[in-house]
Amino acid sequence: MRGADRRVPGASTLAVRVGRQQDLTDVHCEPIALTSAYVFASAAEAAARFSGASPGNVYSRFTNPTVRAFEQRLAAMEGAEDGVAFASGMAAIAAIGHAWLQAGRNVVCSRDVFGTTLGAFRRYFGKFGVGVRLVDLTSLPQWQAAIDERTALVFVESPSNPVQRVGDIARIARLAHAHGALLVVDNTMLTPIHQLPLGLGADLVLHSAGKYLDGQGRCVAGIVVGRESLMDELRGVLRTMGASLSPMNAWLLLKSLETLRLRVDAIHRAAGQLAQWLQAHPRVGQVHYTGLPTHPQHELALRQQAGHGGVVSFDVGRCQADAWRMMDALKVVAIATNIGETRTMVTHPASTTHGKLSVQDRLEAGIGAQLVRISVGLEDPADLMADLDAALASAPVAGLPVPQGTPA
Ligand SMILES: *Cc1c(COP(=O)(O)O)cnc(C)c1O
Repeated sequence: MRGADRRVPGASTLAVRVGRQQDLTDVHCEPIALTSAYVFASAAEAAARFSGASPGNVYSRFTNPTVRAFEQRLAAMEGAEDGVAFASGMAAIAAIGHAWLQAGRNVVCSRDVFGTTLGAFRRYFGKFGVGVRLVDLTSLPQWQAAIDERTALVFVESPSNPVQRVGDIARIARLAHAHGALLVVDNTMLTPIHQLPLGLGADLVLHSAGKYLDGQGRCVAGIVVGRESLMDELRGVLRTMGASLSPMNAWLLLKSLETLRLRVDAIHRAAGQLAQWLQAHPRVGQVHYTGLPTHPQHELALRQQAGHGGVVSFDVGRCQADAWRMMDALKVVAIATNIGETRTMVTHPASTTHGKLSVQDRLEAGIGAQLVRISVGLEDPADLMADLDAALASAPVAGLPVPQGTPA
């Protein structure tokens, strides 16, 4: 309250005006700035903040102290100048599109990116006259042929999900830059602990931050990091389009970044063990994991990754029924379609995450009806193997012929 007034204010006034904590600098754990608005010292200061002449917060749609702390922390970990957080990974991708795509320009994208990413480009940017060109993530000649002087964005997700193909980020960056395009890398799978795309030549790195960055399945969030000039452009989109991250979720992410290395290193070790064990299992067919020496791009993965992540995909039996039977028999592993949580989850991509694709597109993406995907969590690996071993007992030995009349 301003001024000295001898009147005793009413209970309603006291309820909203007394007990404001002004100074939080001695608080050890970062406080949460759950606020939409900010107080200005004077009318002139309000005007200066709105015009940008004075730095500082105006409204939490575009800046908030807790959200800024998350942006700065992740940007530092990715080796970036700055970052801009969004309400979800898809909101981050949409903002990148809003910032740099326009009619007559195109985006060149690897075919096996996250399905909704493709949908965003094709359906919601395509209708405004943006061209979308899909290429094989692993084929440099295809990238070279697709990128031209009308290309605004080159979009890569590596390793891909669920079958773990790897793109050569440094070489794709050179192809993009030769035509003045920006290279965007979706680094959700590996996090800055196991892959630093900016160091390989990427211009923008994005995360679906509710996956490994939160790591505990508590929120949906997104973030993009990169050069300051690019971040200024993105903050303009955020300010106008409004898909802002809530301070509460930013605070969850600030806390989870503190343990990111511990979690993803443990998950990387457990996933590696599990992948090797699965590869030797008589009832398991092909196993997809970049950490396996038999992975076709294992050498490239070792060059550009410091770890292999927690997603392992493998074939069970010969058809969907075999895969489903195994999944239904699991007792520790949960059937859930997320990735990057403390708890291990199993998914049948052909009928869930990739269910909208045609059979041909699905097979091109390497996703057969018998493929299952596991997102490894923090349980003891021995317990995961015991659970999988018991569930796999229901599956036929790998390599037997498919029975007549089995749907693909
Ligand atoms: C989940 C996911 C997205 C989408 O992010 P949301 O936060 O769910 O909007 C994008 N890319 C990858 C690799 C993902 O796994």
